[in-house]
Amino acid sequence: MIGLENKSLSQASLNQLAVYQSAIDEKRTYTEQIELAGKWRDKTNNRIFKEVKEKLISMCTNRTQRCMYCEDSASTDIEHFAPKSIYPNLTFVWDNYLYACSGCNSSSKGNKFAIFRTKDGVFEDITPTKATVRVPPVAGNPVLINPREEDPLHFLELDILGSFYFRPITKNEASKDFKRADYTIDILGLNRESLAASRKEAFDDYIDRLSRYKERRNNDNVGCCIKERSI
Ligand SMILES: [Zn+2]
Repeated sequence: MIGLENKSLSQASLNQLAVYQSAIDEKRTYTEQIELAGKWRDKTNNRIFKEVKEKLISMCTNRTQRCMYCEDSASTDIEHFAPKSIYPNLTFVWDNYLYACSGCNSSSKGNKFAIFRTKDGVFEDITPTKATVRVPPVAGNPVLINPREEDPLHFLELDILGSFYFRPITKNEASKDFKRADYTIDILGLNRESLAASRKEAFDDYIDRLSRYKERRNNDNVGCCIKERSI
């Protein structure tokens, strides 16, 4: 997980997203807003979302299917960082979009979300329940790390000497930084075995290329010395 270069959408597309969003915001109750937000895919097969997808891809190393969470090359989904089932007011908001693989988005994260409550800073899981009457969440900052807004490597480090798992940088389990790193790894399943194996393969390939480069440089230098002596 790496920090992303944040880009903006064209004003025409931002305006159209605002029109879509206003239809949700105008609903009378929170439950009605959630119901309409759940139909957001009805609007995604048009030029606005073509631009959304292209812009998100260009923000993530320009690789067609790079997942903004796990960096695997299997992205297919426009993902709402803050779930639309909790925050219907962010359903058609550009800043709330990421591009993610189904392993991170559907299988792992889903509708799970947690915040540090503004009032007392307590960690609270606000994942929706089956309750028929829903109420808006209390105010608070996300626990999940957002690669569009912050550098994940401030919180996470990769164990390149053994497991190839991500782990929190700080060891202070009571700190917010530890909780954010731990929650992010857990909620996205960042240490899935397939991901760890891919990271090891990429790392071994890099070391191999580096060794071959150094070897070639040494051979070039030896050849150069022999040539100088023979002049
Ligand atoms: Zn992913």
